[in-house]
Amino acid sequence: MSRRETLSRNLEQVRERIRSTCAEAGRPVEEVELVVVTKFFPTEDVELLIDLGVRAVGESRDQEATVKLASFSRRDQLKVHFVGRVQSNKASSIARYADVVHSLDRPKLVRALDRGAEAAGRSLDVLIQVSLDDDDSRGGARSADVPPLAEQVHASDHLRLRGVMAVAPSGADPDESFRRLRSVAHGIRASHPEATWISAGMSADLEAAVRNGATHLRVGSAILGSRPPLG
Ligand SMILES: *Cc1c(COP(=O)(O)O)cnc(C)c1O
Repeated sequence: MSRRETLSRNLEQVRERIRSTCAEAGRPVEEVELVVVTKFFPTEDVELLIDLGVRAVGESRDQEATVKLASFSRRDQLKVHFVGRVQSNKASSIARYADVVHSLDRPKLVRALDRGAEAAGRSLDVLIQVSLDDDDSRGGARSADVPPLAEQVHASDHLRLRGVMAVAPSGADPDESFRRLRSVAHGIRASHPEATWISAGMSADLEAAVRNGATHLRVGSAILGSRPPLG
């Protein structure tokens, strides 16, 4: 099977999982956007994904994303979502190419991304990453810190607060985790009605995310295959 056929088959399987879960949950499928996480995979795969109708990709490492996008001729056909941890010294680089940053989780990044976006003459859509078990060592703001962070993003000049993001803690029931995320999202929406996005769900738990109101799914390995080990 060619790479194109493999990607096409995998993409269709994921789209079918989204469609059937939306149907069961009584949600219109248009409410859920698929972001294909292409980290570790080459530009050629991104090209094939565009041919297959993908319009949003996720990257999680600044250096890799910078190199991949620099040589990329069809950049204007894609929205680039930065989904990985943001080191503050990389914020200005990320602000140059990302359309959406999913992983803002501390005040320092508000200033760094805002300045980076200003320098690049752009504005960025931003999600606040929430730590669902309040263990912030793996990234994500503790839920009590989310409202003040949302205020700061709202008050910035070049960042648009769009909503929240989370990764389900390993070992936890994903439905329970994403239900928690949805309640954090509703809390923010009370004072920021424009913050309607909920980024939740990956290859293994996208159904639980769809059932609990996700608007953006970040799916990598179910489409592209397993990634080489980190290192
Ligand atoms: C890699 C990554 C994903 C995709 O994970 P898969 O299990 O391969 O679907 C989603 N979200 C984040 C934050 C990631 O780093």
